[in-house]
Amino acid sequence: MYCSKCGALLADGAMFCAACGLAFSTAAAIVRPMNAQVATVPRVEYGGFWLRFLAYLIDSVVIVLGVCVLAIPLFFLTGLGAFLSEIHPEEDWNENGVWVLIAVFFLFAAASLVITWLYHALMESSEWQATVGKKALGLVVTDMEGRRVGFWRATGRHFAKIVTNMVPAFIGFIMAGFTEKKQALHDMIAGCLILHRES
Ligand SMILES: [Zn+2]
Repeated sequence: MYCSKCGALLADGAMFCAACGLAFSTAAAIVRPMNAQVATVPRVEYGGFWLRFLAYLIDSVVIVLGVCVLAIPLFFLTGLGAFLSEIHPEEDWNENGVWVLIAVFFLFAAASLVITWLYHALMESSEWQATVGKKALGLVVTDMEGRRVGFWRATGRHFAKIVTNMVPAFIGFIMAGFTEKKQALHDMIAGCLILHRES
């Protein structure tokens, strides 16, 4: 199949033309007529930097709550809580106490890592195609043709943020504000788009 507007070859199941942005499916994008007099073609709309930043803030709150809810029972189940409560800092703040603190730190760090990963990968590959924050703001994660991504693609996008984080001054994230398809660095690495679709 070829794009009716620009003639580019389309991928199977494409929701819009990756070359010119013509949308074939209302599921891909919403149409915002800029000028009522001019007949508008449905175009895909990318999620911009500030919407994505707000979604990130919402997700951060959800993740912190999730880590607390899930890691605190883990903390007690593993016996670390009981161990900590037996330590009396004023008398026997010994080597064991330090090891327990290190264990607690790693428990929370590991729980955060896994929860953050699964939160993004499972939700962005789900029917929502979005985390809670993205869903609230009408953003969806898709591949380059506007299709839903699978779990491993979403996982790739999530861990590609490690690379994005290595770029100084948040430039890897700010790229979502000025690249052609509003992609952050991790979107480019994983071949993903963030579309804005009011639902
Ligand atoms: Zn086209």
